Amino acid sequence: MPNPDKHQLSSLSFNTLAVHGGNEIDKTSGAIRTPIVMANSYALPYDASTMDWSDTEEPSYTRNSGHNQICLQRKLAAMEHGEDAAVFATGVAALHAVFFTFLKSGDHVVLGDVTYEAVWRLFAELLPERYGIEATFVDMGDMNAVRAAIRPNTKMIHTETVANPTTKVADIAALSEIAKAAGALLSVDSTFTPPPFFRPLELGADLVSHSLTKYINGHGDAMGGVVIGSKQLIKHIKGDALVDLGGTISPFNAWLITRGSVTLPLRLKQQFSSAETIANYLDTEKRLAFVTYPGLASHDQHELAKRQFGGKGYGAMIAFAVDGDPETQNRFVSHLKVITSAVSLGHDETLIVHVGGGARGGAERYPLNFQKYGHLRLSIGLEDPEDIISDIRNALDLTFS
Ligand SMILES: *Cc1c(COP(=O)(O)O)cnc(C)c1O
Repeated sequence: MPNPDKHQLSSLSFNTLAVHGGNEIDKTSGAIRTPIVMANSYALPYDASTMDWSDTEEPSYTRNSGHNQICLQRKLAAMEHGEDAAVFATGVAALHAVFFTFLKSGDHVVLGDVTYEAVWRLFAELLPERYGIEATFVDMGDMNAVRAAIRPNTKMIHTETVANPTTKVADIAALSEIAKAAGALLSVDSTFTPPPFFRPLELGADLVSHSLTKYINGHGDAMGGVVIGSKQLIKHIKGDALVDLGGTISPFNAWLITRGSVTLPLRLKQQFSSAETIANYLDTEKRLAFVTYPGLASHDQHELAKRQFGGKGYGAMIAFAVDGDPETQNRFVSHLKVITSAVSLGHDETLIVHVGGGARGGAERYPLNFQKYGHLRLSIGLEDPEDIISDIRNALDLTFS
């Protein structure tokens, strides 16, 4: 079954889809892996005079659509159980495409009080100041606060499934009910919780986005973003935001992400299981000020996470701080030998980043311990968890020696 067509894709189970989805035997060379098509234009039909220059279905110009984008879109839509997908150059380009397509002056958005930094700045500053779009930041763990924030002009609720960086968990089914009652779209950034682990569309989300830069590519060597949803919503996004904003992914990066995603289910299994082991160790470590991970009983939304993610895990992102001042956090990070100090997450290697207590936009809304100590955001990779634990233990020994 080397070449499943669009209709067959949805019937494949996840591991099979991860391997075969979006791959085609090359008609020219017979190669069994779809090649990278580095072309910005495609052959036109006999009568090009009546062509729709905004069409995104048939490849004509790579900004609208090209071979590798189409392959990746088909695969990601099938993985997320959506009808269609639009891929972009970065996760932020994908998110911006959602906001640009469905919001206009005078509209109101309700979004999580902990949200990706670029999204925070878009709604705290850029979109209100420049385009007159209103935004209310609310605690996505408090459904009464979300309901109270809804206004007659609320057009969208936007949330992260598990928030970057505090790991606050959003109740997608409850948010979907509130959005539907308000006639608003529910847009979910599911970057921390990719399929097959979690599928927000199945709980009523209208649009799901991912930074492909993170788990779905998983190897730290390409950037990309995707939005997945109904045919109708995605057509709107492609028409407005791909064609007329132009944040198109390069064919090379689309190909890298198609390849990287082959091992997504295997990687998630390993990363989520290691993260639980490592979080349990951190929870017993007396030299830390706090540890936040949805899999720990001490996490505010542990029960929600358990129910919503069906016991399949809790992600692989942990936030914690060493008991000490910012210089103590720096010293600790400098003593790590296996874990790499770098931004980004969801890579094959374990990454850590020290974020100061007030360093990020919206940090005043973080839990008090994040504000007091700052935090270390830890993205668990594919290494053996024992090596990560001893790396942390050794670095703590050196920090406090
Ligand atoms: C990284 C990230 C983004 C942005 O993605 P880029 O590919 O870096 O543009 C958006 N949302 C979340 C939750 C992220 O972690």
